[in-house]
Amino acid sequence: MKTRHVYIHFPFCIAKCPYCDFFSIPVSDSCVHQKYKDYLLREISNYGSVISDEIDSLYFGGGTPSLLEPDALSEIISRFGISCDTEITLEVNPATADLDRLFGFREAGVNRISIGSQSFINRDLKTLGRSHSAEDIYECYENSRKAGFKNISLDLIIGVPGQSAAAAVFNANEIVEMNPEHVSAYILTFYDKTPFAKELYNGTLVKLDDDTEMEFFDLTSEILEKKGITKYEISNFSKKGFESKHNSNTWNYGNYLGLGASAHSFVNGIRWKNPGSVENWFYSVVNKSAGYKENPKEDDRTLKSEFVMLGLRKTEGMSIDLFNKYFDSDFLSEYGSRIEPYLINKAVIISDNCIKLDPGKFGIFNTVVSDIIF
Ligand code: SF4
Repeated sequence: MKTRHVYIHFPFCIAKCPYCDFFSIPVSDSCVHQKYKDYLLREISNYGSVISDEIDSLYFGGGTPSLLEPDALSEIISRFGISCDTEITLEVNPATADLDRLFGFREAGVNRISIGSQSFINRDLKTLGRSHSAEDIYECYENSRKAGFKNISLDLIIGVPGQSAAAAVFNANEIVEMNPEHVSAYILTFYDKTPFAKELYNGTLVKLDDDTEMEFFDLTSEILEKKGITKYEISNFSKKGFESKHNSNTWNYGNYLGLGASAHSFVNGIRWKNPGSVENWFYSVVNKSAGYKENPKEDDRTLKSEFVMLGLRKTEGMSIDLFNKYFDSDFLSEYGSRIEPYLINKAVIISDNCIKLDPGKFGIFNTVVSDIIF
């Protein structure tokens, strides 16, 4: 089956944020960006037989793909079969998008903007090492509307060191005041090997305790939900009809093709990752050496665990019928005894042939999922 969902990774940023563990490197040289774009075009050609003639979503993530020139984006987008329903998302760093560029992105075909806002408090942004101010976010958002974007997502990081409950509430209120269609809200993670993890270890940075982080997350959810921006996945909220097609496909266990250095793909039960350095990725594109041909299909147990884990992230839960059909199996006979304790204490609910977490129990997601699948 050909894929209708494509992710494109653009690994360059203005500067490296100290908490970030994505594959991203600080390179502002537009010649490097152009060369990278040329290799992307070659990689798209390499996968002609894998990509559907018409796609449902195209997602430019990073890194900071808004560093690409609108012309370059247009050239990439033109290589795909796009319909009026295709969701084309561009992640935007507020420091990289003035009104002209935003008009250019819209003209290029982008119809969804995901703004890496993270916080509306300059002190938080400084702690996070972000290359923009709160004022830049407001301006970027307003300019995105002026440029014609009707589908805007804002990112929020909860639990920035030193954050108070009042600050968390302020951030959530700023978001509902701005009235975006979509919000991604994540509790700050201190990933191994990042400068933040080292500072945590040295004691120069103090993490909020888990309960406080969860309390701030719940406060945020409550404020968003009251204004009709409702949770549809553990960290994602949207107005009705504005759920991300790209992300929903991943949680629904759909096929997707990842292009660019370090991008992940999942096609027909086979998962692979492109080389994690730009030079190695260039080499693999020229030699057509990356890809699913070299990867064995994952074993059934791994695939089933992923299916359950991704399904339970959604507030609508995991379809038991779909699981049974996908794996030609009986979910309740296989996992029933592990689920039973959670059914008794009502952390997990089964209704309409879907299994889902109680909406108030997302805080124990990891525990529930690992008890069920391991
Ligand atoms: S802008 Fe985004 S991708 Fe780039 S370093 Fe910061 S968090 Fe990472």
